Amino acid sequence: TGPLLELDGVRKHYPVHEGLILRRQVGAVRAVDGVSLSIAAGETLAVVGESGCGKSTLARLALRLIAPSAGTIRFDGRDVTHDGRAALKPLRRQMQVIFQDPFASLNPRMSVEEILAEPMLVHGLGDAASRAARVRELLDLVGLARYHADRFPHEFSGGQRQRIGIARALALKPRLIVCDEPVSALDVSIQAQVVNLLKDLQAEFGLAYLFISHGLAVVRHMADRVAVMYLGEVVETAPVGALYAAPRHPYTQALLAAAPVPDPARRPARPALGGDVPSPMKPPAGCRFHTRCIVAQARCREEAPALRTLGPGHAAACHFAETVPAFTRLGAGERH
Ligand code: SF4
Ligand code: MG
Repeated sequence: TGPLLELDGVRKHYPVHEGLILRRQVGAVRAVDGVSLSIAAGETLAVVGESGCGKSTLARLALRLIAPSAGTIRFDGRDVTHDGRAALKPLRRQMQVIFQDPFASLNPRMSVEEILAEPMLVHGLGDAASRAARVRELLDLVGLARYHADRFPHEFSGGQRQRIGIARALALKPRLIVCDEPVSALDVSIQAQVVNLLKDLQAEFGLAYLFISHGLAVVRHMADRVAVMYLGEVVETAPVGALYAAPRHPYTQALLAAAPVPDPARRPARPALGGDVPSPMKPPAGCRFHTRCIVAQARCREEAPALRTLGPGHAAACHFAETVPAFTRLGAGERH
C-alpha cells in the first residue's frame, strides 16, 4: 500500500504587490519552495524549523486548506491538488487538525458538548442521541470527566483545553491529524502528558500524524521520521534515530545544539544558531543556509545543494554532508 499523504514538489508562493492604484507585483514570498514528503498510515512525520521556515504553510497545504502554486498533493493515492470544496468534503472527515493555541481555536460561547458535536453536525452524522453518546466517548478517550460536557472553554486549564481540541479532532474518526505545535504553548510537565495521550490514541486508532514543531526536543519522543525545513525547503530528512544520532546538515546540528538538555554539564561546546532567518522573499543565493552556516565555503554562496540520499531514509541538502563534522552527538540513542 502506498502512503496516506504524499506531497510531491509542492510550492506555495504568495505574490507581493506594491502601489495603491497601479498595483504591480514586486516579488513573491516563497513560503514553501519545492517540498516532497509522504506519511504512511499510522506513522508520525515531524516537520521542524524556526518560525518563517514555511511549516505552517506546509500544514495548510497538507490539509488542502490552501492550494499549492505547483506540485501535487495525494491523499490515499488520489490526486487532491485541485479539488474544490465539494470534492474535498469527504477528505475533510479523514484529515483533522490540532492547533497550538486551543483557547483561540475553541468557540468561547459553545459548551464542550457543542464543540465536540459540531463536526458531526457539519457532516450530517447521527442523531442527537448518538452524537451525545459519541461526545461522552470522546471525553473518555482524552481523559476528561463526562461532567465537563456542560462547561465552557474558559473553565479549563491549558492542558485540558488541548484535550478538548484533540477530542474534537477525533470526532469524525480521521486517519490523519495535522498537529500544529500542539504542545508549545503548554507547561513542560503538561507537554509530556499531551504527547503521551497523542501516542496512545495513535496506537489505538492507527492515526497518522503530521507533527509541526519549532524545536527538536518534543519531536524525539513523538516522531518516526523527521523533516527539517529551512526557508521553504526540506534540508534534511531521516528516521528519528538517525537524525539524532548522526545529523548531517549543519542546520539540523545547530537546532540540536539549541535544544535543551537535561544536564548542562554534558552540553558540548558548540556555537549556537546565530542570526535571523533571512526573508523568504529574497532567499540567499546558493545554499539558503549559507548566511548562518559555520562551515560555509565559497561554493555554498553560488551553488544550491540538492537533497542527496546518505543512508536508508536519510537525505540532506548540503555540499559537505558526508564530511561535515557531526559535532552534535547529543546523547545519541538516549531517551529522557
Ligand atoms: Fe553550510 Fe554549505 Fe552545507 Fe549550505 S551547503 S549547509 S552553507 S556547508
Ligand atoms: Mg507557525
